[in-house]
Amino acid sequence: MNATTPSITFIGLGPMGQAMVRTLLGAGHPITLWNRTAARAEPLVAEGARLADSPAEAVAASDLIILSLTDYQAMYDILSPVESQLAGRTIVNLSSDDPDVTRKAAAWAKRHGANFITGGVMGPAPMVGTDGMHVYYSGQKSVFETHEASLRPIGKPDYLGEDEGLAQLFYLANLDVFLTSLASVLHATALANAAGVPAARIYPRLVQMVTETGQMMDVGEDVGKNLDEGHHPGEMASATMMGATADHILTASKAAGIDTVLPSALKSYYDSAINAGRGSESWTVLYEFIKKSKA
Ligand code: NDP
Repeated sequence: MNATTPSITFIGLGPMGQAMVRTLLGAGHPITLWNRTAARAEPLVAEGARLADSPAEAVAASDLIILSLTDYQAMYDILSPVESQLAGRTIVNLSSDDPDVTRKAAAWAKRHGANFITGGVMGPAPMVGTDGMHVYYSGQKSVFETHEASLRPIGKPDYLGEDEGLAQLFYLANLDVFLTSLASVLHATALANAAGVPAARIYPRLVQMVTETGQMMDVGEDVGKNLDEGHHPGEMASATMMGATADHILTASKAAGIDTVLPSALKSYYDSAINAGRGSESWTVLYEFIKKSKA
């Protein structure tokens, strides 16, 4: 084993895990694999990885154990039977789940003498190992620093702090935007399609709108700072103006006979602000009602 390319045990071979293992093999790490469905390991074994017969054998093979599983329950299903073998090892769990579930998992690992680092992978499998990929990490800093070089080939590490829930929280916050954007584009496509516009005609324009929305949200003032300070200057785009448009979207959706869950939710945010007498402030005033503080 080379000091700069220590051996790694990798558990979980969905599309993500497979891409990560390829990247880590490419970086020269000896890799021991385990996967519930052993057949998924075959191509990776052909590329140089070693398949363990059992989770116990996989855990024994390396100090660093990386998990890429559907959720945290899968980790317990695999590692609980071998928890007495975890002492002194480091688990890096790159699976998605709730931040509290993640914190409890870290406590579980520590009870068994293991280190625990949480990761949130910010891109799809084809982006693994590319410059565009970054990965949020949180957990004990010294532990992260020990393994940072081994993790780096997967994507640019973005270490957030010692709280193991943080990486999961940042991941979920990003996915909140991502999933809502995906659904909004599909909803808008359906709105146009109900009037006879082929999805192929409008979909690319809506995707462009997602990009432009990001640019519009970022210009000028420091919006994030204003949100923290409860400051919502609204000269350019008031909540009343935007709320009228939200109402038009809902009305048009009803007329088109398409689903109205998303535009109803959207309109309800604007209604809350306008009904509270804050319609002249910026659309960002919705934040006060979404976070349910005293608006
Ligand atoms: P999949 O759900 O396709 O695969 C996950 C792995 O989990 C498989 O190896 C599967 O085993 C294993 N698994 C699930 N349940 C159990 C269980 N109870 N016991 C044992 N093994 C189990 O996920 P992906 O590879 O797509 O993603 C992995 C993680 O990365 C997820 O948490 C996902 O949210 C996250 N992620 C994924 C992205 C993507 O684009 N795919 C993007 C960013 C994050 P088996 O092969 O036997 O089914």
